[in-house]
Amino acid sequence: MPDHAGHDSSPLTITAFSLNDPMTSYLFTPPAVPSLPIRGQQERFPVNRIFCVGRNYHAHAVEMGRPVDKSVEQAFYFTKSPQTLVETGVDSAAVVAYPPRTNNYHFEMELVLAIGKAGFRVSEANAHELVYGYAAGLDMTRRDLQLVARDKGRPWDTGKDIEQGSVCSEIVPMPGVVIENGAIALEVNGVTKQSSDVDKLIWNIREIIADLSTYYHLQPGDLIYTGTPEGVGAVLPGDRITGRVEGVAELALTIGVAE
Ligand code: MN
Repeated sequence: MPDHAGHDSSPLTITAFSLNDPMTSYLFTPPAVPSLPIRGQQERFPVNRIFCVGRNYHAHAVEMGRPVDKSVEQAFYFTKSPQTLVETGVDSAAVVAYPPRTNNYHFEMELVLAIGKAGFRVSEANAHELVYGYAAGLDMTRRDLQLVARDKGRPWDTGKDIEQGSVCSEIVPMPGVVIENGAIALEVNGVTKQSSDVDKLIWNIREIIADLSTYYHLQPGDLIYTGTPEGVGAVLPGDRITGRVEGVAELALTIGVAE
C-alpha cells in the first residue's frame, strides 16, 4: 500500500521461487549473488538489477547521430544482466577478456546510482530517499552490434548485455544525497578520451529515479548507469582504461586478449 509519503512499500510478489528456503533443493548449485564492495564497510552490496539510461548527455547523443530534444522526448532505458557485473578498483584493476563477436568494443564512462530503498511512482521531490550511494562504472558496448541492431529496429542485447561488460567501482555510501555536478573523465593508456561534468546530464538523478520508477518497482540493490558523455571509443587487447567521477570513485580496467 502507498504510505503517506506516496511510496508503495508493499513487498513485491514477482519472485515466484524460494531462493532463501533452506528446504529447497536445487538440481545444481545456484550462481552466487552478484555484489559489490562498499567503501568503509564489511558488508557487500547485493546487486538486484542493472538499468542503464540511453543518450543522457547532449554531446554524446550528437556523436551517436541521435540528438535529444528533451521538450518532446522521454528518457529511455535498457537493462544488463547482473551476471555481467565486474568489480574493479584502481590499485586492483580487473582484467577482462576482449569479448567475442565484435571488432569495435567501446568504453562508456558513467556515474552509477545505487538504490537502497524500494519505490514505485516516486516523485522527484522524494527521489533522494531511494539513494543509497554512488559508484563509477563502465557500460562496455559492442558498438558494431548495437548500431546494426538499432538501425534494423532489433533488440540490442548482444551489443550491450555482454559478459564482464558492466564494470563498477566500489559503492560509496551517500544515503539521500542527490549528485548534481562533478567532473567525469576517462583515459585510455593515459590519453584523455572523455571529459565532462555530471551537471550536463539531460535527465538528472531526481528525474531518472522518478521516471524509471513509473516502469519498475525499484528495489534495494538496483543499479542505474546514468549515461555517458561524449568521447566514447574503441579499446584493444592490452589497453588500460582509467576513469573517475569527482567526489565519488575511481576505476581502472585492463582489456585482456580476445577469447
Ligand atoms: Mn551507457
